[in-house]
Amino acid sequence: MTDLSPFCRIDSISSFCDFRATVDVLRLDLMHPVVSGNKWFKLKGYLADLGQKTVLTFGGPYSNHLVATAAATREIGLQSIGIVRGEKPSVLSPTLLQASSYGMNLFFSDRAAYRTKTIPAAVFECFHDDELCIIPEGGYGKKGAAGARDILRCHNTKSYTYVLSAVGTGTTLAGLAAAAEAQQKVVGISVLKNNRSLFEEIGQLVPDERKGHFQLEHDYHFGGYAKWNHQLIQFMNRLYTSTKLPTDFVYTGKALFAVFDLLEKGVFTSEDRILFIHTGGLQGNRSLPKGTLIFE
Ligand SMILES: *Cc1c(COP(=O)(O)O)cnc(C)c1O
Repeated sequence: MTDLSPFCRIDSISSFCDFRATVDVLRLDLMHPVVSGNKWFKLKGYLADLGQKTVLTFGGPYSNHLVATAAATREIGLQSIGIVRGEKPSVLSPTLLQASSYGMNLFFSDRAAYRTKTIPAAVFECFHDDELCIIPEGGYGKKGAAGARDILRCHNTKSYTYVLSAVGTGTTLAGLAAAAEAQQKVVGISVLKNNRSLFEEIGQLVPDERKGHFQLEHDYHFGGYAKWNHQLIQFMNRLYTSTKLPTDFVYTGKALFAVFDLLEKGVFTSEDRILFIHTGGLQGNRSLPKGTLIFE
């Protein structure tokens, strides 16, 4: 895959808060219009040396991971299959239309079958078992985490005391925990409600000597995955007005809300230098009613 890391840059958003702390953002969202952010790093770990395999992966109707996989496989000339959660809707979401425009073959899987990640029989009518390379949902796995280690290498990030990021599967956080400097604190903000197995799942992707090298915040899910309220939207709009930083309500909006809330609660000192990883992916915003956000 083409190296997109030169396109990310570091922006300061310290002016957004009244505290004398440094808050910088590593803008992975600027890397690619579709394969943006952490998805590119995770996929890089999976898509190396695949030969002529067809890539199969899983996702919901607004999945950043699905459309990123569709775009990335097309770029390197591989076929792709997307197993989509839920029955086939009469109208495809913009995300699915886009994935399909990149040539991704979409198959729908009802919620029960999706939960167990059963591959629908219809797939095997078109593709042979041994030509498939399966990437787990959300790119969770060691190869994804290995790719994500390079995130902290896009720029000189050694002087930061904290590295923070939104967490879904935690694959990205595992890469950050493995690559961070020994003295840096790595904090993940979980966007799922009560995902108590998360610490363990991330630990499985982190080398032994780094297993305790990250913390998780569980109180910023705003009701659960892809749930939102007025307070969150207002925060995202205010942040955009003041810093021109776009966020999404599923991941980076919640995580940055957490960063400023933790600042307010005195978790960081004025000496701290905070690096927030903007993990990209604004797909979720497409599911909001028009006009909810003041940016696209
Ligand atoms: C997918 C995604 C995440 C979650 O990444 P994990 O490695 O699964 O924790 C975070 N932020 C954005 C914007 C995403 O699209």
